[in-house]
Amino acid sequence: MKSLRLILGDQLNIKHSWFKETNEDVTYCLFEMRQETDYVTHHIQKVIGFFAAMRQFAKDLQAEGHNVVYFTINDEKNTQSLTKNLKALIKDNGTERFEYMLPDEYRLDQQLKEFCEQIEIESRSISAEHFYTKRNDLSIFFKGKKQYLMESFYRDMRKKHDILMVADQPEGGKWNYDKSNRNKWKGDVEIPNYKLFKNDISEVKKDIKTAGIKTMGRFETKTFPYPISRSQAIEQLKYFCEALLIHFGDYQDAMHTEQEYLFHSRLSFAMNLKLISPKDVVTSVMNYYRKHGDDINISQVEGFVRQIIGWREYMRGMYWAFMPEYKSLNELNNHNKLADFFWTGNTKMNCLKNAINNSLDNGYAHHIQRLMITGNYALLTQTNPDEVDAWYLGIYVDAIEWVQLTNTRGMSQFADGGKIATKPYVSSGSYINKMSNYCGNCHYNKSKKFGDDACPFNTLYWNFLDDKREHLGNNFRMGMMYSLLDKMNQNELTKIKEKAQHIIEHQDEY
Ligand code: FAD
Ligand code: SF4
Repeated sequence: MKSLRLILGDQLNIKHSWFKETNEDVTYCLFEMRQETDYVTHHIQKVIGFFAAMRQFAKDLQAEGHNVVYFTINDEKNTQSLTKNLKALIKDNGTERFEYMLPDEYRLDQQLKEFCEQIEIESRSISAEHFYTKRNDLSIFFKGKKQYLMESFYRDMRKKHDILMVADQPEGGKWNYDKSNRNKWKGDVEIPNYKLFKNDISEVKKDIKTAGIKTMGRFETKTFPYPISRSQAIEQLKYFCEALLIHFGDYQDAMHTEQEYLFHSRLSFAMNLKLISPKDVVTSVMNYYRKHGDDINISQVEGFVRQIIGWREYMRGMYWAFMPEYKSLNELNNHNKLADFFWTGNTKMNCLKNAINNSLDNGYAHHIQRLMITGNYALLTQTNPDEVDAWYLGIYVDAIEWVQLTNTRGMSQFADGGKIATKPYVSSGSYINKMSNYCGNCHYNKSKKFGDDACPFNTLYWNFLDDKREHLGNNFRMGMMYSLLDKMNQNELTKIKEKAQHIIEHQDEY
């Protein structure tokens, strides 16, 4: 039977059971499409990275003897629409069966379901064989529960997959070493050079320019620094184990003006495109730890494993549990505009300047920059979550809706009213000062709450608590902050609120 099998840009899993054998009746297809480049303005490095990895994947499949149809963005046969491209190929090739890997994005899942209902040939879908969990495992796990706590899901994953367990107890006696993951990096611990790949992307870059795709961000070099093939992803993973794992946990939450990556793995792009699987990653890390356990503390390994089998799988499960409604939640009723400086990095606030410029330069910022700098500021300025989502979905090379939306709208903006986070991730300047060296050279004074040179995070923080009392006043985790707010001198609070209003209305002056 002549089959056409679709591979989406984030389904580049060369280990998939589809590719175990070659079959002359099977044709694989991959398309670079405006449908995918234009639904939001993406970072130039993100578009380049996806196209470069897809082209490499098509080459690798062909080298193994598979039939592949590949439409580049400017290919004359390319209609730029997924369903139109598929329809044309089905007709031209005399296809008798259409097959696809289940997409991770709701939008594409719907589009392909509808497409299969319309076509007259047989169709079927198959798992992309990437995650530990199935789409609805998390909903089943939490069925009947009020709170979807990541920690209980994570412990269950540890037990189920026998990771860092001794019989049914957590290895080392503790499930979670989060409290040891909060050191500030002061330059005293050496950070090895980053592994930056030198993938030549001149052809892809030229094609993107010719197609006239609107992008954001900067791209100064001629080479793409993230892995674009399975072998490169494995190299990156090996490098992480050998050079970075040793301090991953220690400095997980640290931020520094001279260090964009610290001890982070930069594996998210490779994993999200499925060049490697979370199991590949966890297995390598565990094997390395077993061999070098005398040098590496369990807190580094647990901290990392928690991100992969905990947060990553949890976010995906939450996405499928609550889509499509999740995408329009705005429980805190926030409607302000996202500051223009998110697109330029042009602000006097040193923390934001660094986090945004890192993002514009590299299509990357690490978790705490995303959560406690840009996300924190967007929430404190009560920004419309639609605008916040569009920025996060565009700017990061690893941004795919299933993981971006739950992190942004849920974890960072609390727009889901607490489905993911038990309290909003907001802070004043003191947290930022504790975890970074940003405040030392800032135009603003980290200790002041109002006045011309007051740190805007301080002003906005107290104003946010006061404005959102109706939503958050009864949150038991916010009790201490509300009692401090209640004790604040009314005159001081009035000054703070006036100043906060000025910041919100004139964000680009700050
Ligand atoms: P490391 O710090 O080395 O962590 C290892 C891996 O753990 C990551 O590669 C990632 O796969 C996983 N991980 C860690 N934290 C999370 C998390 N919260 N959710 C899911 N997986 C996690 N991650 C994305 O992959 N795509 C996104 O679009 C994305 N958007 C985010 C938006 C916001 C507002 C926030 C707060 C976080 C977002 N994250 C996103 C999660 C996290 O910031 C990135 O996964 C991480 O920074 C990627 O860098 P790394 O590979 O060096 O991660
Ligand atoms: Fe950011 Fe405030 Fe520190 Fe400046 S003083 S870097 S604005 S937290």
